[in-house]
Amino acid sequence: MKCRHCGNESFIPFADLQNCPPSNSMLTEATLFAPEVYYPLVVEVCDVCFLAQVDEHKAATEIFDADYTYFSSFSKSWLEHAERYAAMMIERFGLGPQSQVIEVASNDGYLLQYFHQRGIPVLGVEPTANTAEVAVAKGIPTIVDFFGKSFADERVPAAADVIAGNNVFAHVPDINDFSAGLKAALKPGGVVTLEFPHLLRLIEENQFDTIYHEHFSYLSLGATERILGAQGLKIFDVEELPTHGGSLRIFAAHADDGTKLRSPNVDAVLAAEEKSGLRGREVYESFQPRIDRVRSDFLRFILDQRDGGKKVAGYGAAAKGNTLLNYCGVKGAELVNFVADASPHKQDRYLPGSHIPVVAPQRIDEDRPDYIVIFPWNLRDEIAGQLGHAREWGAKFVTAIPELKVW
Ligand SMILES: [Zn+2]
Repeated sequence: MKCRHCGNESFIPFADLQNCPPSNSMLTEATLFAPEVYYPLVVEVCDVCFLAQVDEHKAATEIFDADYTYFSSFSKSWLEHAERYAAMMIERFGLGPQSQVIEVASNDGYLLQYFHQRGIPVLGVEPTANTAEVAVAKGIPTIVDFFGKSFADERVPAAADVIAGNNVFAHVPDINDFSAGLKAALKPGGVVTLEFPHLLRLIEENQFDTIYHEHFSYLSLGATERILGAQGLKIFDVEELPTHGGSLRIFAAHADDGTKLRSPNVDAVLAAEEKSGLRGREVYESFQPRIDRVRSDFLRFILDQRDGGKKVAGYGAAAKGNTLLNYCGVKGAELVNFVADASPHKQDRYLPGSHIPVVAPQRIDEDRPDYIVIFPWNLRDEIAGQLGHAREWGAKFVTAIPELKVW
């Protein structure tokens, strides 16, 4: 294994989640009994550039195939987040009808629609055809392709006043080529913003369930600054966001852009990373025992409920739940009877590995489980609010991370 940024071959051990199938490979009735491919899920940290990364065992084209089921527009809080972002960018950088906004991994147009509504030209780049189709139907021009240096040179050279990348930077296998593409697609004076879960928060809050095969890199600001810097981009500002359990939104510009001055926010976050030891070994080497405690607490809880004749259901068929369930070795519907999800694209399918059925949320009302495990803990308040009526039959909510909580 070579570091995907610097090519170094020595690593610090961080998180070993053993073997599991790719998190987004939902199964259908027809594929449920077919052999399932398991890949090692191990994150290590380069001891030269401190980029935390999974080894690439599955080609990106295979993961982002036509069956890809994640539609951004099904999360209300995520849509609100996108709308606030668009308003902020329009205001801060004075965007208007003369501007061009490009989003990389534009999904179903959930974000670009808010620029489009304000009369600002937009272009989405999205590798999955079924989500891109939804975007085009909304009037959001979208190119179905992977973004990188050659794409940018051929299709959008120096074209963008703003390039947005939300939860894509951590998911690209070739992070150097992707960064070179950002540089190539950016107009002089333009701004790149990238949002990604912050490695510091992953470590501090035991968020090991955000580790999955499609999530190649686990980023600190320090590592991101080195990766973009190597392509001639500088980070001039950063915001800390609550999304996905704690994300960073970085603002980058051409390294020679004298109009973008470095905000004190950048050095404040870098100092926090330094203080937490992200440029040392100990913080990484001590993570595995904490993961294992989360696993034993969660398993003990669901086994106790089964033995006590209680019904346990789950909510939210997202990648996070799959990492947790597979690492805990949960199989079939015995311990977690079903997982409810509002997205019709996920219903009537089965979770990879655990084979737990995914059903529509009304099943919760029919079955009246005693406990509802909220797998996307980052949306716990939104989901607990939607399911508030379950209190009427005495149901309690459960989250496993950062530690087991029943309320
Ligand atoms: Zn490295």
